[in-house]
Amino acid sequence: MIVIGAGVAGLAAARRLKRAGHGVIVLEARDRIGGRVHTVRPEGWPLSIEAGAEFMHGRSPALMRITRGLRREMRGGMFVEGLQRRDDLWQSVMEKLDGIPSRREQSVQDAFATLRWRLRTTRDERRLAEAFVEGFNAAPLDRVSVKSIVQQTRASEEIEGERIARFPRGYSAVPRKLARGLRVELRSEVKLLRWSRRSVAVTTEAETYEADRAIVTLPLGVLQQGTVRFDPSLPRWKLESISALGMGPVTKIALLFDEPHWPEELAFLFARGMPVPTFWRPLPSRAPMLMGWAASRNALALKRPAAEAVRSVQRALGKRVRPRETMVFDWQRDRFSLGAYSWVPVGALKAQRALARSVGPLLFAGEATEFDGACGTVHGAIETGERAASEILRGRGGRP
Ligand SMILES: Cc1cc2nc3c(=O)[nH]c(=O)nc-3n(C[C@H](O)[C@H](O)[C@H](O)COP(=O)(O)OP(=O)(O)OC[C@H]3O[C@@H](n4cnc5c(N)ncnc54)[C@H](O)[C@@H]3O)c2cc1C
Repeated sequence: MIVIGAGVAGLAAARRLKRAGHGVIVLEARDRIGGRVHTVRPEGWPLSIEAGAEFMHGRSPALMRITRGLRREMRGGMFVEGLQRRDDLWQSVMEKLDGIPSRREQSVQDAFATLRWRLRTTRDERRLAEAFVEGFNAAPLDRVSVKSIVQQTRASEEIEGERIARFPRGYSAVPRKLARGLRVELRSEVKLLRWSRRSVAVTTEAETYEADRAIVTLPLGVLQQGTVRFDPSLPRWKLESISALGMGPVTKIALLFDEPHWPEELAFLFARGMPVPTFWRPLPSRAPMLMGWAASRNALALKRPAAEAVRSVQRALGKRVRPRETMVFDWQRDRFSLGAYSWVPVGALKAQRALARSVGPLLFAGEATEFDGACGTVHGAIETGERAASEILRGRGGRP
C-alpha cells in the first residue's frame, strides 16, 4: 500500500493499515514529517514556535487518544484595542454566531445582514464576529458558505470546541507519535500517478513504486495547481470537486519582546481593522511572545508582514512597542501546501464528499476531504486518514 504525504492524515492512514498487518510505504516530498503541523525551535528564542497548526480545538476522540500527557488547556482573557478586557463582548458574539440563519444557502456576509436585523447586534459585535469568522476559517465572508460554517460550529460543539489546548512540547509530537514504526521516505516528491482498475504506479524523481492501492493526501492547494500528474486524468467530477473548494491563505508572525507588555491574564488580543487583526500568547508559557495571525484577504494584502504585525500590535496594546525578533510563516508560498486550509464556497458543500470519494485504486484523504464539519483541523485530517484506511480494510473504496 502506498500513502502519499506524511502529514497527519497520511500518517494516521498508514498507521491503521500497518496495525492491520499491511505493508505500507509513505512518500513525502519534504525532508520532514508533519506537513502543516510544524514546530520550529529557532536560535535565540526562549521557546518553540508553531509555524502551522497551534491549537487542539475541543476533545475529538481521534486526537484525544494520541495526545494524552501532551496537551495543556488554555485559559485567559479576551482583549481588544487599547488593551481593554472584553470577555463579555466575546461571549455575546459567540452566542449570536450560534443563531446564524442557515436554512437558506448564502454567504456568511449575507447571513450576517439578517442577523443584524434579527438579533440586534451592535457595531462592536459585528466587527468582532466578522474578524473571527474570516480569521478562523481563512475564508472571505462574501463567498464562504453559511451552511458550512454552521455545520462546523455544530461539529465543534459536539466535541466541546470552546476548550482550546496547546502543546507545550510542540504540536510536532503528534505526527511523531503517529509515525512510530512506519516506513516514511522523505525527499520523495511524487510527480506522477499512473493508475488502472487494479493497480497504481507512483513515480518520484528517483523511483517508481507499485501497489494495489494508494491513499492520496495531497493538500487541496497542490491538487488545484495540478503539478502532480494523474494518468489517466482524474474523472471530471473529481476535478470539479477540486476546483469548487477554496484554499485559505494564512500568514503567522511571531513577535518576541524583551518583556511582556500585557497583563498576566491575557490570552487573545484583537486589533480589528488592522492588517494583522489577531494575536495570542503561547500559553501556558509566560515567555514575552505573541503570535500574530492574518488570514484570507488580510493575508493576501500583507506586503511587509513583520512591520504590519508590529503596527497592528501597537494599536492593540495602545502603546509603541518594538519586538526584539520576528519570524514570518507564509503558507501560500509553501509549494507543498499552497495555502493553509480549505474552506467551502457558497453552494459547494457537496464537493467535499466528492473530493473524498475513491477513483479506481486511489483513495483520497486529508483535511479538505473531511465533510462532517471538521475540515481545516488536525483532528479532521486524522479522521479522514483513518476513514480511508478503514475503507481499504473493509474491502470498500479504492475500486471503480
Ligand atoms: C498556519 C496554519 C494554522 C493552523 N492552525 C490549526 C490549529 O490551530 N488547529 C487545527 O486543528 N488545525 C490547524 N491548521 C490546519 C491543520 O494543520 C491541517 O488541517 C492538517 O495539519 C492537515 O493535515 P493533512 O495531512 O491533511 O495535510 P498536510 O499536513 O499538508 O500533509 C500533506 C503532506 O503532503 C506532502 N506533499 C505535498 N506535495 C507532495 C508531493 N508532490 N509528493 C509527496 N508529498 C507531497 C506535504 O509536504 C505534506 O507533508 C492550521 C494550518 C495552518 C497552515
